[in-house]
Amino acid sequence: MGNGILVIAEHEGGVFKKSAAELVAKAKALGLGPVTALVIGHAGGAELGGFGADAVLTVTGGDTSRYSVATYVSAIQAAIAAVNPAAVFASAGAQARDGMPRLAARLGLGVGADVTELRLDGGALVGRRPLYAGKALADVRVSSSPAVFTLRANAFGVPASTGAAAPVSALAVSVSGALTKVVDREAPTSSVVDLTEADRIVSGGRSVASKDGYDKLIRPLAGAIGATPGASRACVDAGFAPHSHQVGQTGKVVNPSLYIAMGISGQIQHLAGMRTSKIIVAVNKDATAPIFQHATYGIVADMFEVGPLLQAELQAALAG
Ligand SMILES: Cc1cc2nc3c(=O)[nH]c(=O)nc-3n(C[C@H](O)[C@H](O)[C@H](O)COP(=O)(O)OP(=O)(O)OC[C@H]3O[C@@H](n4cnc5c(N)ncnc54)[C@H](O)[C@@H]3O)c2cc1C
Repeated sequence: MGNGILVIAEHEGGVFKKSAAELVAKAKALGLGPVTALVIGHAGGAELGGFGADAVLTVTGGDTSRYSVATYVSAIQAAIAAVNPAAVFASAGAQARDGMPRLAARLGLGVGADVTELRLDGGALVGRRPLYAGKALADVRVSSSPAVFTLRANAFGVPASTGAAAPVSALAVSVSGALTKVVDREAPTSSVVDLTEADRIVSGGRSVASKDGYDKLIRPLAGAIGATPGASRACVDAGFAPHSHQVGQTGKVVNPSLYIAMGISGQIQHLAGMRTSKIIVAVNKDATAPIFQHATYGIVADMFEVGPLLQAELQAALAG
């Protein structure tokens, strides 16, 4: 049985994602022993000490500048060997979805995936995860050591940094199992926060009716309140918004403080991606639309009329 928690701290070109601080802080709050952050492809990370990291291990060189599953898994394997943690935490995003099953298979570990709550019960970690598009919640215990959990971004909150610096040391890794090679990576052109990390989201449905409709209604409303634009699959399939904007079962799972659904009916596959949002505002001209059963606030109206009014009101409220 190990001691402490190893946190995979994700970053983009050396800038840590919000989830890195969030996971480190949650690991610290659990009080299971020392918290070690693993940083792959960047030599820094002392600032993670401000959120509770006791030490930072970095893996650089070779193929680490771009995410590859072989490097990711080999680095975590080496870090587990170095610190012998009781648990490993990663953000429940694309990297963990790709890498954690392989790590689990390689080391014979169990994974509690996409948990939105974590608590200690008799010294063991118990994660809670939504099932069946959020219709049920399952409590998950992992009997392997270390126990691996992937945590949904924005579910735990980020405290203010204490400003403390954690000691950083390099970890030597020999990469094995490389069946693929990443030859290039296309960075997103937009500077808005990624949907999975966004604190506010404004999503548009099929009824935006055109790319122009999406660009003139959804993007300005999102921009006005510092939100990231999202979309239903029907909106994406129709070519009104890019696939990277899709929220739902086959899109991104989001967990913002505020989710505004504009002209989205609220089918189960869309709900699967946004149901855990803290406040849901729905605008739909059909009072019987299923989205209203999940909305904190509902507006029965034509979104093309309400959208600009909402934008002006929210802008004024934020300015005041
Ligand atoms: C395997 C599978 C996976 C899927 N994955 C996803 C997924 O990841 N994400 C996802 O979103 N969907 C997904 N879907 C599709 C999903 O079932 C729905 O078809 C989709 O979510 C509907 O999108 P929508 O709400 O934009 O469109 P619709 O269901 O057509 O709803 C449009 C809504 O707009 C309202 N409306 C129309 N005009 C206005 C107006 N002027 N003002 C206000 N309201 C208006 C209507 O009343 C209606 O409620 C998946 C489906 C399958 C089978």
